[in-house]
Amino acid sequence: MTDKSSQSLFEEALRYIPGGVNSPVRAFKAVQSDPVFIARAAGSRIYDVEGREYIDYVCSWGPMILGHRHSEVTAAVQEAAEKGTSYGAPTALEVEMAKLIVDAFPSVELVRMVSSGTEAAMSAIRLARGYTGREKIIKFEGCYHGHADSLLVKAGSGVATLGIPGSPGIPHQLAALTITVPYNDTDTFIKAIDMHGPDLACVIIEPVAGNMGVILPRHGFLETIRDITRRYGILLIFDEVITGFRLTYGGFQNLVGINPDLTCLGKIIGGGLPVGAFGGKGEIMEKLAPSGPVYQAGTLSGNPMAMAAGITTLNILRRNEGNYDILNTKTSLLCNELQKLFDHTQIPVCINRTGSMFTVFFSGHEVYDFAGAAKSDTELYARYFRNMLANGVSLAPSQFEASFLSLAHTDEDIEKTLDACARSLKTL
Ligand SMILES: *Cc1c(COP(=O)(O)O)cnc(C)c1O
Repeated sequence: MTDKSSQSLFEEALRYIPGGVNSPVRAFKAVQSDPVFIARAAGSRIYDVEGREYIDYVCSWGPMILGHRHSEVTAAVQEAAEKGTSYGAPTALEVEMAKLIVDAFPSVELVRMVSSGTEAAMSAIRLARGYTGREKIIKFEGCYHGHADSLLVKAGSGVATLGIPGSPGIPHQLAALTITVPYNDTDTFIKAIDMHGPDLACVIIEPVAGNMGVILPRHGFLETIRDITRRYGILLIFDEVITGFRLTYGGFQNLVGINPDLTCLGKIIGGGLPVGAFGGKGEIMEKLAPSGPVYQAGTLSGNPMAMAAGITTLNILRRNEGNYDILNTKTSLLCNELQKLFDHTQIPVCINRTGSMFTVFFSGHEVYDFAGAAKSDTELYARYFRNMLANGVSLAPSQFEASFLSLAHTDEDIEKTLDACARSLKTL
């Protein structure tokens, strides 16, 4: 443990790191505060450098579905590290991981490992363009697919939090190839297809949006997208970087019975180490180098420690699929009770949830797209966030993010969280 406070570390960080953080979502700008520096974590808890304990609903932005520092995952990483941390040559672990993913996703016949969700989405887009010979893509407002140039247009997550419309540094010629459509808006989607259909390489979507806060697809929305993309020969890419192994053993696609052409994964499949993957139909994936002409590569892709952490995490999830019922029940209870607490104070909120991911939008209206999410009272969210933190609960420092439960979250954690919420609301 370091003897420095979060404040002194942040002051030091600002001298060496832009904005003091290595990913903008870690800044507490949107909640008018400074980031808490974390020293360690265990189970459902994280501990800051000053020894304060928090019940953690960020869960490293999704990966930690087993909770922090799961003993089997730690042991697997240690065992892998003992043998060597990187070889730049194929290993048995990569084959095991690929097989686990292919077995879990009916739509995935071949899969390529990368080191982040950003790389997965970027490479999937390149492959879609290479395969179809077309250049335009459709994405949905408020969806985040990492920070590759083509995808950083009307993006969610930190981009939404900081109110950045696009990003300087992205050539407008490239941005012009990205068509954006409001989430859940089938009519506008159809209009976009009417205009651009024959030029579209792919449509990429978070099948449950998690990066503008949690937003569920309306009934029939994904089905319509699947039907139309198939008709036009446009590849459909499901970005399941969050939803992969979060809602069931597999993806949201397993739950709704829709087969996208390509799927992006990350977060949970890395068990807390840097991992991403993209996969899909063999005929499409075969276009990747070295079997095909579309180039994609990575020095640390399929890294043995990352594979060990991911394989162990997936095997634990697979061992007991009842895990997902447990997560669902706990999160449902938590959200129902939170709703009651807010009802008492007459502060209007819209709580969107599926499985173990949810967002409390400070809004009196149903939230089903980015424009709706953006109408939330972010000032009130900021005060709620700060009160919750002071009461020992760590939420995402932004209204436009998902909260996650892990299997390490106990009933007692939920009780404590509700107590913290009741206390937080008193001074809101
Ligand atoms: C987190 C995320 C990404 C980017 O993954 P990184 O590992 O942060 O690059 C892409 N898509 C979605 C849906 C995500 O939630």
